[in-house]
Amino acid sequence: MPFHVMLIPTLGCPANCSYCWSSEEKSPIMSIETIKEVVEWLKTFRGDSVTFTFHGGEPLLAGAEFYREALPLLVEGLSPRRIAFAIQTNLWKMTPEIAEIFAEYGVPIGSSLDGPKELNDLQRGKGYYDKTMRGYEIAREHGLNVRFITTFTSHSVKQKEEIFNFYLEKGLTLKLHPCLPSLKDDNPERWTLAPEEYGELLIYLLDKYLENLGRIEVMNIDHLCKCVFTGHGTVCTYVDCMGDTFAVGPDGDIYPCYRFIGMPEYVMGNVYDRPSMADLAQSEAWKKMHKFKEYVDTACSKCAHIKYCRGGCPYNAIVPTSGEIEGVDPHCLAYKMIFDEINKRVNEEMFGGSDMDSMFSPSSMRPSKSGIMSLMLKKL
Ligand code: SF4
Ligand code: SF4
Repeated sequence: MPFHVMLIPTLGCPANCSYCWSSEEKSPIMSIETIKEVVEWLKTFRGDSVTFTFHGGEPLLAGAEFYREALPLLVEGLSPRRIAFAIQTNLWKMTPEIAEIFAEYGVPIGSSLDGPKELNDLQRGKGYYDKTMRGYEIAREHGLNVRFITTFTSHSVKQKEEIFNFYLEKGLTLKLHPCLPSLKDDNPERWTLAPEEYGELLIYLLDKYLENLGRIEVMNIDHLCKCVFTGHGTVCTYVDCMGDTFAVGPDGDIYPCYRFIGMPEYVMGNVYDRPSMADLAQSEAWKKMHKFKEYVDTACSKCAHIKYCRGGCPYNAIVPTSGEIEGVDPHCLAYKMIFDEINKRVNEEMFGGSDMDSMFSPSSMRPSKSGIMSLMLKKL
């Protein structure tokens, strides 16, 4: 797992998506002083290459001046290490000025869109689609690489075909995210995608992907196939992320990942104190993350997929139970469904399907499409 530091310039966001946990627009913004402290902290913390992802909240609220100063400070301050950047943004605040800076530093953009306009705006708020598309056009005009993440909810999963066709017709890469219980909603489960529905959705997308090979990219499926092929996780959900991923909040507080930002019980230290790895290891958050890793070693020990699943995302497992480790990632069922399916298809494609378990599983009643080996071997 490469070293990854998420920088959260603000928790504020101008959008108000139904299932999100972020806050209002006027939230404090990270200062350039804090960026300088990040550099000083990392000089002694770890010596390897770093990928910085700007996340939020909405990170473009920090404005062009912030990025004009922050990006060279990080690159030059940590030289000669290799520094890579990425950003996750809804693109509403994208301007030609910001796009020029991102083009200069080769910053790939992840954005969020839930599918066609009507469906997207129902889940993410009226006017969202047009604002994001305006930002997308500016980014494209400057040659930036933009990929969208689609949050599938209990509502939108019923329109999965329409969503898939939307991405196919627009020539966009599809990456999906299952809706999690909202931390700010009175009814937190309202939009949540149940694990079984998520598993079925992944299998559906695998089928659609194989049907349309060469015409669309479905990133999750690419990574799931690669996990099975290489025997280890290729995205954070399927590796032990603790110790290789950190997030820094607007005030310099250090957390295990952006998802924990704003939860005081998960603060591990602050960049202004320049903590070492050993210092962070004293924090309760560190101990909890590592306890999860040990828990997975036991709880998943009999699972065929443990090497490339690793119990899923610790945030998903820990936060809904108020910090107690009572199980692995609640999406375990979905992971099992898709990993079983990929293994079954590989077996069928390579050996004509001699695995007894898979022969009698309900999914084996479906005629499967060939081509899975080309996904396994695809260069990511
Ligand atoms: S806590 Fe979850 S989302 Fe965050 S880095 Fe770990 S696996 Fe990824
Ligand atoms: S599929 Fe479930 S049981 Fe298997 S490793 Fe993943 S979380 Fe653990």
